[in-house]
Amino acid sequence: MTAERLLIFDVADLRGIRVECKKCQAQITIRLDQTPGIKAVCPSCNAEWFGGQGAHDAALGLTNAIKLWLKYEREKKPDATLRLEFSDPTRQ
Ligand SMILES: [Zn+2]
Repeated sequence: MTAERLLIFDVADLRGIRVECKKCQAQITIRLDQTPGIKAVCPSCNAEWFGGQGAHDAALGLTNAIKLWLKYEREKKPDATLRLEFSDPTRQ
């Protein structure tokens, strides 16, 4: 028998999305209550983070989808909630 330990978080518990530059290791947290989205270029070293519009659009789409869900959950109070499952990094 195999057991797997998971970490489960409500989407409502998300504080933000962290963008980490692979070139200079700068880290920027996009808070979900802020209007500005994810930038396409690192403000520290000017590396182009997403290598083109498609990946940048996907990053913006992910952020906007989470914001839209939180708004819907807050205003419409649906009978279901979304939770995110993560593998426990301390168990590997
Ligand atoms: Zn950078």
